[in-house]
Amino acid sequence: MIRDHFRILLMDLTAGKGRVVKVEGRDQWAGGSGLAAHLFTLYGHPERSWDDPDQPLIFAIGPLTGYFPLMSKTVAAFKSPYHEQYAESHAGGRSALALRFADYDALVLKGRATRPSVLLVGSRKVELKEAPFLWGMDALGVAKQLRQMAPGSGHRSIWRIGPAGENRSAMACINVDTYRHFGRLGSGAVMGAKNLKAIAVRGDASFPFESSGAACGGTISKDYPKLFQEIHRQLTDTQMMSKYHNLGTAGNVAALNELKSLPWRNLQATTDAGVEGISGERFADETLLRNTACAGCPVGCVHIGFVREKFMSDNRYLYRQVSYDYELIFAVGSMLGVTRSFDVLRIVDVVEKQGLDVMSGGVALAWATEALAKGLVSREQTLEPLAFGDADVYCRAMEHLGRAANGFYRDLAQGALFAAEKYGGADFACVLGQEMAGYATGELYFVAQALGFRHSHLDSAAYSWDQTHDEKDVDKGVEFLLADEPGRAFLTSMVSCLFARGVYKDPLLAQALESVGYTELARNMARVGENIRRLRWRTRFATGFAPSTVRIPKRFAEVSTWKGPVDPVYMEALRQAYARRLEELGKPLEDKAPA
Ligand code: SF4
Repeated sequence: MIRDHFRILLMDLTAGKGRVVKVEGRDQWAGGSGLAAHLFTLYGHPERSWDDPDQPLIFAIGPLTGYFPLMSKTVAAFKSPYHEQYAESHAGGRSALALRFADYDALVLKGRATRPSVLLVGSRKVELKEAPFLWGMDALGVAKQLRQMAPGSGHRSIWRIGPAGENRSAMACINVDTYRHFGRLGSGAVMGAKNLKAIAVRGDASFPFESSGAACGGTISKDYPKLFQEIHRQLTDTQMMSKYHNLGTAGNVAALNELKSLPWRNLQATTDAGVEGISGERFADETLLRNTACAGCPVGCVHIGFVREKFMSDNRYLYRQVSYDYELIFAVGSMLGVTRSFDVLRIVDVVEKQGLDVMSGGVALAWATEALAKGLVSREQTLEPLAFGDADVYCRAMEHLGRAANGFYRDLAQGALFAAEKYGGADFACVLGQEMAGYATGELYFVAQALGFRHSHLDSAAYSWDQTHDEKDVDKGVEFLLADEPGRAFLTSMVSCLFARGVYKDPLLAQALESVGYTELARNMARVGENIRRLRWRTRFATGFAPSTVRIPKRFAEVSTWKGPVDPVYMEALRQAYARRLEELGKPLEDKAPA
């Protein structure tokens, strides 16, 4: 039965006890991003530090999870160790369906376990188990242990941290199932600070599909099966999604290199002939074993390659499967000057085990490489002779970063800009709110990532704008960013995979909501999206975000794209104009009530 409220599992890790609470506001906050921000206003402490035990770690799913394909993400929300502000990070895998089948709209973790522990969540039973023997274990090893501690398959999802999370690295991720992550802004450190090594969610209830129609006036409509088929058809039989299955996002590597938009060697160049060794085509030819998918997704964009490890003693080989996509190839490929597909996968394998966000880790090591070359840091500090293109060195350095091997790596683990403030080299720290994503497309993208809500390339389509617009119109650019946002906020509240945004256009989304009984939401999508956008910004500002103080490092003004050299004056004008508009959005409700 569809509910008119949210069903939340509120877990107190200090007491080791959980309880189910009913939270109102389904028609106002929808789910996902909107629900997470609402829960942070209820349970968060904007003024306290990110690692205060009472600070919540929130995981929220959406109203269409389980009903329609690609409604597959879970939104993690927390106060970030990276910038001490409210943050969101999204992951797929089986996470969302497991929560749906466990019959929770969200999981809220508060408190701190007294000893390193794991949390086993089911629909009828929640258990916090001490597990000090897992502390120090890498993220792949923990997953194996958890599969035994929480037996069963199907709708079971395992989330865990590696050494980076234990070390409270601001670039620690939470590894989800296989190959998916709550990647950015340090959610892994939040779990580590709570003494929580892993969470297993068992979707052990039946899916509440049948509706009595009593709760919110909704019933599963007779149109639902037809609509499901139509959405499935659009996702599988049309050109809209096939690119994600075929070469996958790795197909963008050569295209962006051609457009002079692929960051190379700490963004010292935007194109390079070495792309040949790391193109999507090369990965497919040399390394691709298979595709896989998040639960319930018929697209299957996750590309799995392999690394081969030799056992020296008996000359045998071990093969390990490693996923790849555009962002990974950029972060530990072109950004580190690594131009062999298998070398990229070897580095990714280390990153996976350490539980690091691959983009932050790669970009941070790119900065460290340049800092070493310029004599700002010493070989004793880096422990390795960091040099662009040397994959062996980067494998070892990634492990140092995850394990916080010395003072230098502890600093670097707080972000490249944090380290640069101590050692020098802020001008060439490729940080846009957090370590950059792989789009050196131009001024609008640089501003959008630096100031955007998640500091993500998925906050807006600014990278597409840069690829098709060479005019320098500040108002038009900023309007584009602002107009793009409410729709995305609504989609991430549905927890849609953003790859499906070409399919889940507003009319289809409204039909989907209506067909399962969310009539109010279906009728008010624009207003709800706008309200969610504003709630997220208000929450972010309440935790200290000040867009006018965000600076864009000099390196970004030194690059050339297909349009020619970046124009620093235009970029600064964009930055100031966008910051002013965000300040409007972040005003407290009493000053600026949304229409
Ligand atoms: S398209 Fe890819 S990321 Fe999106 S839901 Fe499917 S498998 Fe997951």
